[in-house]
Amino acid sequence: GALPGWDRVEEIVREAHSRFSAERGGRVADYIPVLAEADPDLFGLAVIEVGGGLHDAGDARHPFSIQSISKMFVYALAIREHGHERVRDIVGVNNTGLAFNSVVALELNDGHPMNPMVNAGAIATTALMPGSTTAEQWERVREGLSAFAGRSLSLDGVVYASEAATNERNRALGWLLRSYGRLSGDPDEVVDVYTRQCALSVTAHDLAVMGATLADGGVNPVTGERVVSAEVCRDTLAVVASTGLYERSGDWLFEIGLPAKSGVAGGIVAVAPGKGAVAGFSPPLDDAGNSVRSQMAIGYLSRALGLNLFASA
Ligand code: GLU
Repeated sequence: GALPGWDRVEEIVREAHSRFSAERGGRVADYIPVLAEADPDLFGLAVIEVGGGLHDAGDARHPFSIQSISKMFVYALAIREHGHERVRDIVGVNNTGLAFNSVVALELNDGHPMNPMVNAGAIATTALMPGSTTAEQWERVREGLSAFAGRSLSLDGVVYASEAATNERNRALGWLLRSYGRLSGDPDEVVDVYTRQCALSVTAHDLAVMGATLADGGVNPVTGERVVSAEVCRDTLAVVASTGLYERSGDWLFEIGLPAKSGVAGGIVAVAPGKGAVAGFSPPLDDAGNSVRSQMAIGYLSRALGLNLFASA
């Protein structure tokens, strides 16, 4: 069925926010030094309907770095550019069963990155962005994600510097991909574009608009701009459904029934095709790297708004 009326959705979003504000589980990420300074009390929720209805609660306009959530949107841009077959062959669509930053997964699969939501696959995806220089590729990523958000996004320079100084593992993944002949170009440069994309500054409100664009067949419901095709949305959401919440992706799909992507700064966006998107932001994470409050609140919203894709009634 359709979403309830605007007033009712607004009420449910407020209820979700107040219900989980007191939750104290999880710990802020610290493997990227600057993320350890995040305020654990921050908590924002946003829902954007495909019809353009907007709902914000709490810290929905507080900026944070998009981190792994960027992977989902860069993947969509890569399919827009190269098509379903080519991107599937290069990046893959299957789970690794291992941590998002695993080097082992590459070694076990002849250097194939397996899927675009783990770091190796995300780096291979970023390498597919058009542009003859790194600066051009980065600008394509920034512009593309900005079109999804409906506003010009910019880099959080502090997060970028902190991660660029500590991203040895991602650079190792880039070089391993290269050693298997699965990455053309300079791995350090590709990883630099990837590190920048993760440091783009967004809000929960932005993430909900970005997700709602995928829910709306690729048309941004706020700006009216067509960003990608409906086929690109379908492909992107299918992969995200099985890989978006790290090693908890199966649990999430089983309990909540929506494609969703999380990032280590505390953002999560879940997409209900044809209906809209729900985004949460709260820095404390579970041990897989998913925001604790965002998971709870999005789960609540999915149930209250009737969003589970597998529910026939
Ligand atoms: N930039 C982070 C990394 O590559 C993203 C991690 C995440 O959000 O999962 O380690």
